[in-house]
Formats: sequence, C-alpha cells, structure tokens
Amino acid sequence: MPAPSPVLDCLRRYWGFDALRPLQREAIDATLAGRDSLTVLPTGGGKSLCYQLPPMISGRWTLVVSPLIALMQDQVAALTSAGVPAAAMHSMAEREAGDEARRGVEEGRLRLLLAAPERVLTDSFRGWLGRCAQKRKGPGAIAIDEAHCISQWGHDFRPEYRRLAELRQILPGTPIGAYTATATPRVRRDIIDQLGLRAAAELVGDFDRPNLTYRVLPRVDVAKQTAEALRRHEGRAAIVYCISRKDTESLAAALVAMGFDAAPYHAGMTPVKRTRTSDAFRREQLQVVVATVAFGMGIDRGDVRCVVHAAMPKSVEHYQQETGRAGRDGLPAECVMLYSSADAVRWRQLLQGGPTDPDEPFDPAAARAQLELLDHMQRLAGSARCRHRALVEYFGQRLAGDNCGACDVCLGELAPIADAQDVARKILSCVFRCEQRFGAAHIAEVLMGARTEKIRQLGHDAVSTWGLLRGLSKAQITNYIGQLVDDGRLERVGEQYPVLRLAAGAWPVLRNEARATLVEARIDDARPGRRAKPSQTRTPLTDDEQRLFEALRAWRRRFAEERAVPPFVIMGDATLEDLCRARPSTPEALAGVRGIGARKLADLGPLLLPELARACAGLGLALNARTPLPPEQGPSEPARLSAGASAARELFRGGMSVEEVCAKMGRARSTVMDYLAGFVQGDRPESIDRWVDPGTQRRVAEAAETCGGGRLRPIFEHLAGAVPYDQIRIVLAHRRGKGARGPEVE
Ligand code: ADP
Ligand code: ZN
Repeated sequence: MPAPSPVLDCLRRYWGFDALRPLQREAIDATLAGRDSLTVLPTGGGKSLCYQLPPMISGRWTLVVSPLIALMQDQVAALTSAGVPAAAMHSMAEREAGDEARRGVEEGRLRLLLAAPERVLTDSFRGWLGRCAQKRKGPGAIAIDEAHCISQWGHDFRPEYRRLAELRQILPGTPIGAYTATATPRVRRDIIDQLGLRAAAELVGDFDRPNLTYRVLPRVDVAKQTAEALRRHEGRAAIVYCISRKDTESLAAALVAMGFDAAPYHAGMTPVKRTRTSDAFRREQLQVVVATVAFGMGIDRGDVRCVVHAAMPKSVEHYQQETGRAGRDGLPAECVMLYSSADAVRWRQLLQGGPTDPDEPFDPAAARAQLELLDHMQRLAGSARCRHRALVEYFGQRLAGDNCGACDVCLGELAPIADAQDVARKILSCVFRCEQRFGAAHIAEVLMGARTEKIRQLGHDAVSTWGLLRGLSKAQITNYIGQLVDDGRLERVGEQYPVLRLAAGAWPVLRNEARATLVEARIDDARPGRRAKPSQTRTPLTDDEQRLFEALRAWRRRFAEERAVPPFVIMGDATLEDLCRARPSTPEALAGVRGIGARKLADLGPLLLPELARACAGLGLALNARTPLPPEQGPSEPARLSAGASAARELFRGGMSVEEVCAKMGRARSTVMDYLAGFVQGDRPESIDRWVDPGTQRRVAEAAETCGGGRLRPIFEHLAGAVPYDQIRIVLAHRRGKGARGPEVE
C-alpha cells in the first residue's frame, strides 16, 4: 500500500483522476517546493492541472496569466463545478466582477485568479499585488500559460509578454511556472531568459501524439479533398484552416453546398458573429468551422476528430498547435494537410509585405525569424518522411520504432514514381557537379534551369546538369532531395547553412547497381474508407456502447444548454466513453469512473444515473453496481488486446478473409489489417495463405533476407512499392512467429 499522498488525494477529490500524467508530478512538486519551472507538454497533455492543483494543497492562491480570454470563463466554470474556487479578470469582464475577484483573494476564498497579461501589467493591478504581498496575502505561485508568446522564435509572439518579468520585481520570492505546448530548444531558452527563471526545473514531455494520424496530400481540388477528409468523420467536430479570410468564406460556402454543417470564422468578422460561431461550435451545435489561425486559441472542445489544413500553415509550430486541437480527448483523430508549393510563395509574400495578422504590429526582425520557420514547415510538408518522426524531431526528440502506423508515409499511401532512378541520378550528379558545396534550394534551382544571380555568378548554368529537371517544381525537387537524404544517398552537412554531399548510398545508384525509390502522395486517395487507427491506449467502444455514447452525448448537450455552459465543462468525451464501458448503476460505481470527482458525483450523479439506466434499458445493455475501471494507460505501456482485436481474432481463427472481417465488423480495412498483424503475431497460425498470397509471401521473404532484417521501409522499397506496407507487416509477423530472425514488428 503506497503512503497516502496529499497530491493524489486532492486529484481524486476534485478532478476524479486516479493517477498523474507524465511530468505532472514533477511540475506540481517544483511549484510546491517554491522552485521555478518550465513545463512543456503537448496540447492535451494536462498542463492546466500542473498549476491548478498546487493551490489546493498549499492553501495559498495562484495567479494564472493567460492570453486566452475566451477560455478563461470556461476554465473558471469547469473549476468551480469541480469545487475549486476560481475567478477571472480580463477586459471583457465586468468591473464589479474584478472587484469581487480581488476581494475573494484578500479574504482567502479564492484559489486561482486568471488574468490576461495586459490586465496584470496595469498600474492598478501591480499596485494591488504589491499590497497583497505586504499583507502576506500574495500568491503562492505565478503561472504563465502559453509561455511561448514571450519569444519571437515562437509562433505567436506577443510583445507585452516580455513585460511579465516585472512580476518578479513585485513578488521576488514567488515561484514562476511557465507552461507551453510548443517549444523548440531555442524558444525554451528564450522563455527562461525573458522571464528570468532561476534554476528552473525544465520538464519537457513526450511530443508525439500517437492518437493522431497525419496525412499530407497534394492539393488539386480544395473543396473536394476537404469534403473527402470530413466525410471520414461524418457528423463529428472538425476544424478546417485556411490562409486568408476570403478562403474561409468560399470554402465554408462550398462545404455547406455539399451538405456539411459548416461556418467560416476569421478576425474580420464582427465580434458578435464570431462569438456566435465559436459558441455554437463549443456547444456542439455546429460541427465544422472553416477558419484562419484566429480560431482555436480559445477552443477547448476535446472531441475534434479531424483537422484539415486547406493550405500549408506558416510554421511547424503552427502545424503542431493546430493539428494538436484534434483528439485532445486521447481518442483517434485525423489531420490532413492539402499542400501546394504555392502556399510557401504566398506566405513569403505575406511575411515580407507586413504582418500576417492585421492585429499585430510589424517587426522586421520577427519577420525574418518567421521566414526561417516557414522553410522548416515546407521541408516537413514536402518530404516523404514519417510525419510523427519529423514532428518530434523538430522539437528535439526521437520517435521509438520504425513504423508509426499512423501517417501517410508509414501506412504506405505514397506511391512510388515511375522514373525514380532517372530523377535520383540527375539530382545526385548535380550535387556532384556543384562540388558538394550547396544546399537543397540551390541544387533544385540548378536542376530546374533557373538563372538566379547566384547561379550566373557561379557559372552553374554551364554545368551539365543545369535544367535537367525542367518541368518539376522547386518544392518537388527539394522533396526528392529530402527523400534521398533519408535513404542515405545524400547527407546534409553543417549546422546553419547545411550543404548537400553524396553519401555512401549514392554511388551504387550513380553506377546503376542499385535502384533508388522516390514516392509521392496518391492524389486520388485510393482508400477513402481509411480511418485513424484506433488509439493504442483505449479499448474502442462496441457498437452498442457507441449508441449509448451518442445518447449520453445528446443528454450532455441538453444539460449543458440548460446550465449555459459548453458541454465539455459537464464532462469530457473520455469520461463519457468510460461511462459507456462501466455503465454504473450506483453512486459508488459512478465514483469509480475517471473524471468524476466528489463534487461532480454529488452534482451530476442524481441526474446522470437515471438517464444512464434509461438509455441502457433502451439498448438492452446491463448496468454494473461495481465497476473497477482499468487505470489510464500511458502510451508506453503495452496495449491490452482491445475488444475489437479479440473479436477479429475469433473471426480470423474461423478462417475469414480480410474483406469478410471488414464487412462483419464494419471496420476500415486499415484497422482490420492491424488486427490481422496482431493475430498472426499472437496466434502464430501455421499458414497465412488465406490473407497474403504465397507468391507475395515469397517475395517479401526474399526481400527481407536481402535487406537483412525486419524493417518495413527497405523491404517496401526493395520491392519498388509493389507490395503494400500492411501486407509486408503480416508476412514479417508470420516469419517471426516461425522463428525467422528479425526485430519486433510493431
Ligand atoms: P493542455 O492544457 O496541456 O492542453 P489540459 O490541461 O486541457 O491540457 O488537459 C487535457 C485533458 O486531460 C483534460 O480533459 C484534462 O481533464 C485531462 N487530464 C489532465 N490531467 C489528467 C490526469 N492526471 N488524468 C486524467 N486526465 C487528465
Ligand atoms: Zn509514420
């Protein structure tokens, strides 16, 4: 029996959670110990709890600085309903509300005071803080949310954030905790320096979001492709991001014409209209918002199932932040980017021409930084590298395993191009002819046959490879160069201005002894039924449970409307799902559901239990008087065999084909192939001829021998893309079962 912990007691009592997520404990402990901290966790990682919980233990209040005015009111509502006394002060709140909040602090009633930075920096607020401190009523901690706003290397620089360091002077002994979802090492340094954090605990979480499936498709028809993505999540919440206000209007109109429940959102709309749209979305009365970046900062809807970028965003930070709004509840969600190299051109013009957001002041130095961020984004969008890997590496981390199983690249959705060998040799020769002293952009321009000043000065328009890839775009060529780097044919050398050099793998290709592969996205998305792969951390709901979920969701919506709060304040989707699995019939059983704390139990229990009983009776589902739910599983723990997987296992044992199992279970082919791989690895059937024809098995086996191992991509390439990834996986799983050598197949 572990020693009783006040933190865990508090967590159970007010939040209804059993365990802390990674780094929450460290962040909370640092604050309680009076130590400065910087906590970097991805969206949905649980940052708020890190600053919300300590005041419930210390008994002193915490000042939370947050730029998200729209979110403050909801946070306060959610906290209050959980029994945590909180209030917000910002420009939109009434004056009396502000006075009341201050009194609440002075009288020791409040535990959290949320305030916008411009409010915190007013003379009157600073004066008040100073007086509080003199009376020994100052805050026990200061929390700076969205701390990346302090850095011009961040994606949302706000100059007024810099002045937050002044809080240190007023409250010298108070620990400051900075929290952000997005921070490259450079931004992290900047936050620490600018805020003057001392010996700060730097807590950087795992950046991968395994429940998100990423896809990047070449943009051909924006409305049609957006609709295709949205149809995979029919009736569920989705956000579509566009570059310009005009684009949001026209795309929203096109989607409405196609029958979607969609509306535009941008900073040029009247505040009334904007609020109406964002409120409707939060209240689940609107499913699709087509927006500029202005949308989302204040949106806390956890059940967004799909985020579409109708065009490339202007930085990887933006991409990560915006796609991060999908699947915050931890359930599977999909992120689709429709990419064209023209997007980068457009951004470049916008960035060089002035601020990209008319509400921001123009700062030339910041604009230069933005151009650099743009290049990173373009490289990521244009490459054929695993998206999960590229993203976490951008943030200075590594991804374990070979195949993430949740991006277009790893799912084998990219098709090999026919003349890869020819294109690869031209690129490699060009690098060689240019004496291995130039970066990808220059090499691409030479191959395109451009006559830039640099090319003319260097005489590179006279090298034999000049203009050999005329007809391809610069983005396409840099994309191929990226693939050649990934495949060990080229290497990038140098930190700030990396140049391309031939790597060991280049020579066999140049001598035509090895064949290079280059891939590009299939525009026609041959598998429209593909779905995000089921989360590894949670069991999918059965069909009946899914119906119960919809019924409870409708109840939550009605109930939220009565109370005039957004539905997620009542409870999140993850809690709702757990309810559907647990189906408690008693308050004790309900208390065992994650996300139901003491206050929620007392408040919602009497209404929820009868509703649940009624819905279950209608669906013929049994209730449970006692329901110990398994604890929340972190992504690092081995996944349990899900209900879907064990159902599929039985069907495969019965000899059903993949198509039959898809039809029987109503699941996407990709999901069923996942199940099949698990079945083959776990059950070790004698033969897999039923699922992969023997000829293909032989080819994969031979390729595996030649490539010397069980990594998917080399085998896929060795077979020139003729065998899809999922079939290769099945064969490898089978070989492993039979004792063939090879690393784990995930
Ligand atoms: P962030 O601010 O990092 O984007 P949030 O603080 O909004 O993330 O938390 C995301 C979700 O995770 C919320 O629904 C929150 O209630 C939930 N959550 C946070 N901590 C825990 C925990 N220890 N156990 C279970 N759920 C948690
Ligand atoms: Zn991947």
